[in-house]
Amino acid sequence: MKALVVDGKLSLRDMPEPRPGPGEALIRVRLAGICGTDREILKGYSDFRGILGHEFVGMVVKAEEKSWLGRRVVGEINVVCGECSWCAQGLKRHCPRRTVMGIVKRDGAFAEYVALPLRNLHEVPAEIPDEAAVFVEPLAAAAEILEQVPLKPGARAAVLGDGRLGLLVAQVLKQAGAQVTLIGKHGWKLDLARSWGVKCPGQGEEALAPRSFPVVVDATGSPGGFEGALRLVEPRGTLVMKSTFHERASFDTAKLVVDEITLLGSRCGSFPAALRLLRDGDVTTQGLVSKVFPLGNGMEAFQYLENPACLKVLLQNSA
Ligand SMILES: [Zn+2]
Ligand SMILES: [Zn+2]
Repeated sequence: MKALVVDGKLSLRDMPEPRPGPGEALIRVRLAGICGTDREILKGYSDFRGILGHEFVGMVVKAEEKSWLGRRVVGEINVVCGECSWCAQGLKRHCPRRTVMGIVKRDGAFAEYVALPLRNLHEVPAEIPDEAAVFVEPLAAAAEILEQVPLKPGARAAVLGDGRLGLLVAQVLKQAGAQVTLIGKHGWKLDLARSWGVKCPGQGEEALAPRSFPVVVDATGSPGGFEGALRLVEPRGTLVMKSTFHERASFDTAKLVVDEITLLGSRCGSFPAALRLLRDGDVTTQGLVSKVFPLGNGMEAFQYLENPACLKVLLQNSA
């Protein structure tokens, strides 16, 4: 099968079809999304070697439990041991023995087929088309903020970064009742956010009063964004870090102490919650897809992503 493989660098290769282990299903990928993490992996963010890709929607084609066959699914990316104390507490995403599809020691979804345990799979309701379902993984990550930060109705929240994740985070916070301000650099992306009722100042973060938001989310994907976020958070406020980048960030730690800021890391989230948001129309993915490439043109898709004006780029498997 065709697959995009990282091995120091990215290449399109012919790879053997995955052989599902016990309890695992074989899934034919229909659509996969390229994410900032994929680009960070290519820059060396993790020492990953193998097939890249962790955002997908596909069809189950092989499984011991026959009831799964032919179902359209999305898959949670952390594959856990199920036996350690973290797994026992229900904090499976922190299992120290986990592998992560397309990120840590497990082949990913930029391929014709991918294997995942059945317990990782969630059926996609018929109302959600593939083009929206492929956003479930990043949307779950965006929605994780609501699990971590208690948001009072009408609370002011700032989101830094008008990229793919920032636009999802802004929508998630908005539908939860927050007054959301999105800070970004790209006029048309901000216009998209404005069409959802999100406030977007014209001149970036500098135009806003410092210490003016109880909740600030950094989704810039760059070390510089963090400093901007720190500037905006009010005393006793919460700064949510959504960016994973390869570089080191440097910032004034005294601000955290003096203003008693809670700094919160935030990663993956609940797939059922994300599926509900899409099914109920509380979050839209309309306008978020810039281009769809056939899997066989995957190298070109990564090139295309260098264009700062683009949002989500998808890979379609028509094999
Ligand atoms: Zn991702
Ligand atoms: Zn475990």
